[in-house]
Amino acid sequence: MSPVPKVFDYIVIGGGSGGLASARRAASYGAKVALIEASGRLGGTCVNVGCVPKKVMFNTAAIRAAVHDAKHYGFDVDYKGFNMKHLKTERDSYIKRLNGIYSRNLKNDNVFHFSGYGSFVSSTKVKVSGVPVIHPDETAICEDQVLEAPKILVAVGGKPIIPGIPGAEHGITSDGFFDLDHIPKRTAVVGSGYIGVELAGVLSELGSEVTLSTRTNTVLRHHDEIIGTTLMDDMKRIGIKFATNSKVTSLEKNSDGSLKLSWTEGSNPVPISQEFDCVIWAIGREPSVKGLNYETVGLKLNKTNHIIADEYQYTGVDGIFALGDVYGISELTPVAIAAGRKLSDRLFGGPQFANSKLDYETIPTVIFGSLPAGTCGLTEAQAVERFGRENLKIYQTKFSNMYNAMLPYKPQTAMKLVCTLPDEKVVGLHIIGRGSDEMLQGFGVAMKMGATKKDFDSCVAIHPTSSEELVTLR
Ligand code: FAD
Ligand code: NDP
Repeated sequence: MSPVPKVFDYIVIGGGSGGLASARRAASYGAKVALIEASGRLGGTCVNVGCVPKKVMFNTAAIRAAVHDAKHYGFDVDYKGFNMKHLKTERDSYIKRLNGIYSRNLKNDNVFHFSGYGSFVSSTKVKVSGVPVIHPDETAICEDQVLEAPKILVAVGGKPIIPGIPGAEHGITSDGFFDLDHIPKRTAVVGSGYIGVELAGVLSELGSEVTLSTRTNTVLRHHDEIIGTTLMDDMKRIGIKFATNSKVTSLEKNSDGSLKLSWTEGSNPVPISQEFDCVIWAIGREPSVKGLNYETVGLKLNKTNHIIADEYQYTGVDGIFALGDVYGISELTPVAIAAGRKLSDRLFGGPQFANSKLDYETIPTVIFGSLPAGTCGLTEAQAVERFGRENLKIYQTKFSNMYNAMLPYKPQTAMKLVCTLPDEKVVGLHIIGRGSDEMLQGFGVAMKMGATKKDFDSCVAIHPTSSEELVTLR
């Protein structure tokens, strides 16, 4: 067995979306790379407790909805129930297969994978605690060890925030949601961002009585208003109840195992209490910087504890870079991947990549709610703030997708284009409704190319689709 090397060109702390992408791209240029992952499984949040299992659950909910719709299309089908245990087993083994693929990819790319906890010893040294190392050629079990490299990437991601209220430990987070092997009868979801609305939609569709607590009177309030209002209407349509303008105050576990959640609404100080079988905290995520020993090397955090770095992901500490959720701008998997690859291109790819960096403007993103929603660029409110109302033209529409023609219920589709005058450049595009998730990517390309409303209109519509509305808006 050859000795495990300790000196590298590049150390990557974190084997999630950003870290894996950056490590592999660096190795493709011949750099000697070490990747440190603490959790024992590669892929990070996205693969293990994020996008991937979430999308499986979103698909499951969509199938449930389709079974419901089927009879209106003339099918003789009855819904006879749903086996969550079966789905969880299949979903978990799919993820295990992905973990294995990531591991093999590292091996094939000659990246040294250290399975342990990374923490800074100095600006060029990282201690790995409790480490089996997965050598590209073989496996060796090692004690704690110190690795050295002139360049180090911090891509440690984040974790769910748990509120500081009495009894919070009785609730679960999105991580716990993916451990569920049954659908709770009554669920409270606290928080109305991406995770709150996605999990509430899935659970409701799969039979749970869901109450969503939002601290304003809408959901997804950081997105364009058309998204929140349309989604909230649809969530009500599928039976989700809302506690609006609410502030949760405590959670208690009853002797029968059920949970009592208390909150206040608006300015009324009298708490409301309700019993649930499961309470999910979906109130945001925080960077995983604890234990990293970042202070030792002088890494600076902002007020939300994200590592401060510039547009080149450079932290200001010689040789140290940060990206992905720990950097905190656009906390999305493709953003972490793209930033990781651009960084390695710049560090190891040669002079043609000297200015390689990710453009964080106009990033398309999709929310997989009871209606999928896609958004790219500025919200109307942001555009008004940046350009002034008089310099904008807004186009919008709301309609029922043709899919609903056979159904007695009519989930809505809504679309908005935010354009700057005089040339009507499209600076914001917001869509919600059936198919929006698959519709957005191409429009994202158009926006990245600087498309105007006239460019949109010059593209002949595809009929009958929802997306044709985006090129025929008046
Ligand atoms: P991560 O993927 O979190 O990877 C960080 C890794 O570092 C982890 O594996 C962690 O174990 C490891 N680590 C932490 N500390 C240390 C240490 N000290 N030493 C060694 N290793 C360490 N994004 C989308 O684009 N689309 C979606 O549909 C989507 N859905 C999501 C659903 C949920 C429920 C959640 C929670 C997130 C979702 N996201 C989605 C966001 C996406 O998962 C993240 O933006 C992405 O995973 C960030 O990648 P990252 O590399 O920065 O961090
Ligand atoms: P978000 O930031 O999207 O939403 C957090 C929610 O929690 C907001 O509704 C916020 O309220 C609310 N909140 C914050 N603090 C409190 C509190 N103390 N009490 C009650 N409510 C509170 O975070 P998520 O955790 O939902 O998701 C984290 C990130 O992960 C997302 O921003 C996104 O980048 C990524 N993600 C992406 C997905 C995708 O691409 N489809 C899916 C899931 C996650 P308010 O609205 O008032 O601020």
